[in-house]
Amino acid sequence: MTAEPKDPTKSIRLLRPTTPLAERETIREDSQIGLRVPRPGELLDGVYRIERELGRGAYGSVLLATDELLERSVALKFLHPLLTEEKQQRARFLTEARAMARVRHPNVVGIHSVGQRDGTPYLVMEYLPGPTLYHYLEQRSYRLSLDDAMGLFDQMCRGVEAIHDAGATHNDLKPSNMIIGPASRLGITDFGLAEWVRERRMRRGGTVGFLAPEIAMGDTVHEDLRTAADIYSLAVIAFILFTGRMPFAGDSPEQVLHEQLEERRLRPSEVRQGVPRALDEPLGRALEWNPAERMPRVSLLRSACADAVGTTRAATPVPRRVVVIEDDIVLHPWLEATLMSVLPSASVECFETATAALASVDEHHPSLIITDLRLPGMDGFEVVRQLRAREHTRYVPIVAITAAGTPEDWERLTTLGADGFLAKPFEASTLRAVVRRMLARER
Ligand code: ADP
Ligand code: MG
Repeated sequence: MTAEPKDPTKSIRLLRPTTPLAERETIREDSQIGLRVPRPGELLDGVYRIERELGRGAYGSVLLATDELLERSVALKFLHPLLTEEKQQRARFLTEARAMARVRHPNVVGIHSVGQRDGTPYLVMEYLPGPTLYHYLEQRSYRLSLDDAMGLFDQMCRGVEAIHDAGATHNDLKPSNMIIGPASRLGITDFGLAEWVRERRMRRGGTVGFLAPEIAMGDTVHEDLRTAADIYSLAVIAFILFTGRMPFAGDSPEQVLHEQLEERRLRPSEVRQGVPRALDEPLGRALEWNPAERMPRVSLLRSACADAVGTTRAATPVPRRVVVIEDDIVLHPWLEATLMSVLPSASVECFETATAALASVDEHHPSLIITDLRLPGMDGFEVVRQLRAREHTRYVPIVAITAAGTPEDWERLTTLGADGFLAKPFEASTLRAVVRRMLARER
């Protein structure tokens, strides 16, 4: 990064009020022509009852529906027919969907399945209610505390890390492709679609300003550097989260592109007071024009920013309440002791029945729930289903334990939303490892 001497007149010019974050889609509005989506009340594939349209975007339309079999809400994404016109394209689409479905991470909006209507394929996605990060920032006038900014940035990085770990790239990271759900959980959407759309030449490449220069210019990049484009986009978003504006001073897309290429970007600490100078270096590096000069992994950008801000979310004390549902009360003291040994500051409560546990969970919000599968009265499946249906326990980690669970049981539990499993009998060390994993995941 070139460290220019600070010219106050220049800073003033750069700090003039501009639209902080104009997402300029290069696609034209009329791409919506020809998009036919089902109406509210319609039943798709005998399973998905359409409720309403959630929004329309560049790729198509997103509808809220109820999966009547599993009794849960889902979001259905209908791609514009131009994107899936030919039989060959539909086959490719399935391959893409499979890749998307392989990524399972709390910060990536999950793909449950795909379906077809009149030959047009649609994606069945996890429904994450909440504004997109774009609207979230608008509502807050682009003013977040350093901690809040880092909290969101930490989550998006972890989501992108999971995508990269699966051998894929996102290639269209921007605030309107992220949803802020309940309990500030951030979910990345539209992973896998950017490449698809780009290949169909519906638009030049993505959103000016967020797109890495090599993608904007259509360069071919070495296989090893494919993930560098996501690192670039993440740094642009981080810049906005921390300072309230884009790292480029230009107002028009042409100006932004020009400044991107000239590497004339701002330093975060000169844009907003209170932004630590230590952020300038990692963000500058992630915004390098040459992908080979950016840091090689998202986790390095994430930890450098966390260090710069001086707080990692991991360091924030988390109130921990563990709720255990186990009808065999002989096990209660052992479970309590084991859980206390791994979470010394937590409160652990064991319940004999699911009904009592659920009543207590409504009273005091838990941070982890462990439930036996075979229980008198309400069983573990129903417990998971009910917990996932409640707003305040929708994302709380749930571990199911059982002595007689079959692979089908595990599969059903996963679909219902359980996060981990333990087969009885298990050792204290196994339980401790599962708990640690669950709570690390939660951060
Ligand atoms: P596009 O990417 O095609 O421009 P989006 O993916 O942004 O369109 O979808 C349009 C709207 O639908 C968004 O504003 C978003 O709020 C909503 N949306 C998309 N996916 C989901 C989801 N999984 N759960 C809830 N809402 C969603
Ligand atoms: Mg989108």
